[in-house]
Amino acid sequence: MKNIFFVFIAFFAVACTQQPQFVRISGHALGTYYLVSYYHPEGKNYQAEIDSILGEFLFVASLHEPKSEINAVNNNVDIVLSPMFQDIFNKAVSISEITDGAFDFTVGPLVRAFGFWNTEREEMTDEKIAEYLELVDFRGIQIVDGRAVKRNPNIKIDFNAIAKGYAVDLVGEFLESRGIEIFLISIGGDALGRGVRPNGNCWRVGIETPAETFLSRREVETVVQLCNSGLVTSGTYRRYFEQDGRRFSHTIDPTTGRPVEHSLLSVSVRDTYAWRADAFATAFMVLGVEKSLEMLKNLPGVEAFFISSGDNETFVITQSEGF
Ligand code: AMP
Ligand code: MG
Repeated sequence: MKNIFFVFIAFFAVACTQQPQFVRISGHALGTYYLVSYYHPEGKNYQAEIDSILGEFLFVASLHEPKSEINAVNNNVDIVLSPMFQDIFNKAVSISEITDGAFDFTVGPLVRAFGFWNTEREEMTDEKIAEYLELVDFRGIQIVDGRAVKRNPNIKIDFNAIAKGYAVDLVGEFLESRGIEIFLISIGGDALGRGVRPNGNCWRVGIETPAETFLSRREVETVVQLCNSGLVTSGTYRRYFEQDGRRFSHTIDPTTGRPVEHSLLSVSVRDTYAWRADAFATAFMVLGVEKSLEMLKNLPGVEAFFISSGDNETFVITQSEGF
């Protein structure tokens, strides 16, 4: 009897000290690839659940999914919006307010006219830009009793600057709901890391060196430790069009109605949540380095890393104090 008891204690001790197993999953989502790494006591694989979460997300916020809620809103189809849609909307409004409209999810008509919704690029004269700009104002659309109410029916929303980060957080919430506390999620480079790994280190992710063209090889500019935060990069170098030898970014400045034009090539933002990092990265891309650094002074917990082009094909790095 004593022996059995002893064996039981020994077994219990082994079970308690057993290392959690490392799981790595990859797949396609939101028009890009994703990677999820985590530690689970028995190494359980959650790929099916993650694919389903990301697949369902398209029906909420994707402009490429004809049956999505965002397309219903843009086409003035009267529907009751899901709690998730309303949550993204409210989060988007909050960043539009903080950044005084540098981030504005009603840039849709302009993004579309410049050809970034997989649409044909229109001839963008000053008059046309002014006409579209009339529609760009995040205060022009509200949710009342679960339904979208627009000041002008031609207002169109675009959640692309916040959606990927939001989806990353969704996967994070799912893993946490399964008791997983140590994980790294990346959807197309938008990342969220939580927990300290069994080796005592936080997760490490790279910030890419701005590339010459969208086809260029990816190189790492610097490596960031993510213990409990998201890291999202906005850049002008992967999505753009060229005209008359000039490059036009997919980030639109809502004050001018035109693609942003400055020496800033990429902004990486670290924040507790990936959705916030995503939205701020886009806003900082619009604002440029100086105005962003000024704004960051009043945003505790948000940090940013800026890569600008300098003389003779060099890069100039600027960081917020706590980065
Ligand atoms: P991101 O890669 O997160 O910076 O998002 C860029 C995408 O967000 C663009 O392709 C547009 O669809 C949309 N967008 C462009 N300019 C803005 C802006 N000023 N505010 C919000 N969304 C924008
Ligand atoms: Mg963004």
